[in-house]
Amino acid sequence: MTDLTELGVAAIRDGVAAGDFTAVEVAEGFNANVAAAAALNTFIVTTPEKALDAARATDARRAAGQPLGKMGGVPIGMKDLFATRGVQTTAASHILEGFTPEYESTVSQKLWNAGAGMLGKLNLDQFAMGSSNETSYFGNVISPWRRNDGGNAPLAPGGSSGGSSAAVAARLAPAATGTDTGGSIRQPAAFTGISGIKPTYGRCSRWGIVAFASSLDQAGPMARDVRDCAIMLEAMAGFDPKDATSLDMPVPDWEAALSGDLRGKKVGIPREYRMDGTDADVLASWDAGIAWLKDAGAEVVDVSLPHTKYALPAYYIIAPAEASSNLARYDGVRYGLRDLPDGAGLQDMYAATRAAGFGAEVKRRIMIGTYVLSAGFYDAYYTQAQKVRTLIAQDFANAFTLCDVILAPTAPTAAFGLGDMVSDPLAMYLNDVFAVPASLAGLPAMSVPAGLNKQGLPLGLQIIGKAFDEQGVLNAGLAIEARAQFSAKPDKWW
Ligand code: GLN
Repeated sequence: MTDLTELGVAAIRDGVAAGDFTAVEVAEGFNANVAAAAALNTFIVTTPEKALDAARATDARRAAGQPLGKMGGVPIGMKDLFATRGVQTTAASHILEGFTPEYESTVSQKLWNAGAGMLGKLNLDQFAMGSSNETSYFGNVISPWRRNDGGNAPLAPGGSSGGSSAAVAARLAPAATGTDTGGSIRQPAAFTGISGIKPTYGRCSRWGIVAFASSLDQAGPMARDVRDCAIMLEAMAGFDPKDATSLDMPVPDWEAALSGDLRGKKVGIPREYRMDGTDADVLASWDAGIAWLKDAGAEVVDVSLPHTKYALPAYYIIAPAEASSNLARYDGVRYGLRDLPDGAGLQDMYAATRAAGFGAEVKRRIMIGTYVLSAGFYDAYYTQAQKVRTLIAQDFANAFTLCDVILAPTAPTAAFGLGDMVSDPLAMYLNDVFAVPASLAGLPAMSVPAGLNKQGLPLGLQIIGKAFDEQGVLNAGLAIEARAQFSAKPDKWW
């Protein structure tokens, strides 16, 4: 029999439904891979029994002739930013260590309702702040990929959804949830040779997801291919009255409407994205992507996003501002850690708890956010950044009068080495340069694998779509996938 852990979401769903294998066999296979991959540090908590329980339920439904659900029999990894009832939820922070929610996030509940099972809670950058997974309190994830130059330097899996990306790339899970505030689904997907889509802001409920920057945070699937992303996104998306920014729109049947035929479609190439500091291999893969989309029938047009260079500075004002507000709730009173020095009063307890509970990057963001929101600087920073955000959204609106989707690299480089960027936060922030504009504009955007660079590391191409047009994004992704023929996977060393 084929190794079931080589299968993706669609193949598992269809195989279980057809009776080719049982959901329990699938769960056992992935549980075994997870147990054997401790060296990658992808999971903060593993829940093999939960994966098995869901699988048994799916097998029982099948035996009873009942429908199995969109994710029937598919075990997944859950980014540890989603509250899961009865299972520790930390956001990879010390301050939430030991926090066991009494409630389930809307997105995770929808996935369980669709027949998925949980393999465990995946490591991430602390409070989803980072691009490399190195800000996790629980130690960084190590990418399963290695350069082919024999150096064996441990590489970053991307971030913040680095546990998700590494787990899918290493065949520890057929798919995983991610969240994307400024690239955290797309950049790790690109670094590890998998696919991931951030839907339009509001498609997936934020209820029960630990908040980072609420006007940007959006959940989405990370999986092996475009079809698997479409299936899982259908299961995750939908209106939720518990999230005031949830989109009250029907969830389309994205899988059924998948088509890589782009005849009649226009693809925009933003000229401002050809910027210094982008690897030659990345630029070459972008050119290959343009050729593939032409081959799929699309017309390629030049577009301009003139405010691109202000996107990163605006993001690194808006996201910390919202974070400083959101993270004020962690004060040692209601959640997780409490540090109460002898004889301390209330203020001392807040200070001691926050000093001990937050990591350095989280503290940096809280301080930046507090500064840009302070009375004397609010207009100069925060108001200005909000205006820039509006201009960036207008840039996209103008571009989309000329094209249906936009094609760009996902990140300016392939995966970098762990430790290479930690001493230079600005260099780390620059890695988000192509991902952040779509986040500020709330647009759907996806990364699909495009090939390998000269060192044998995956590169991703990004497709950005109009608001609500996940279908257009997925279809362009499918057209690239069919031509890139990306089948590389990391050699197992763990
Ligand atoms: N890397 C970006 C940051 O550090 C994006 C993170 C995210 O999307 N959660 O803010």
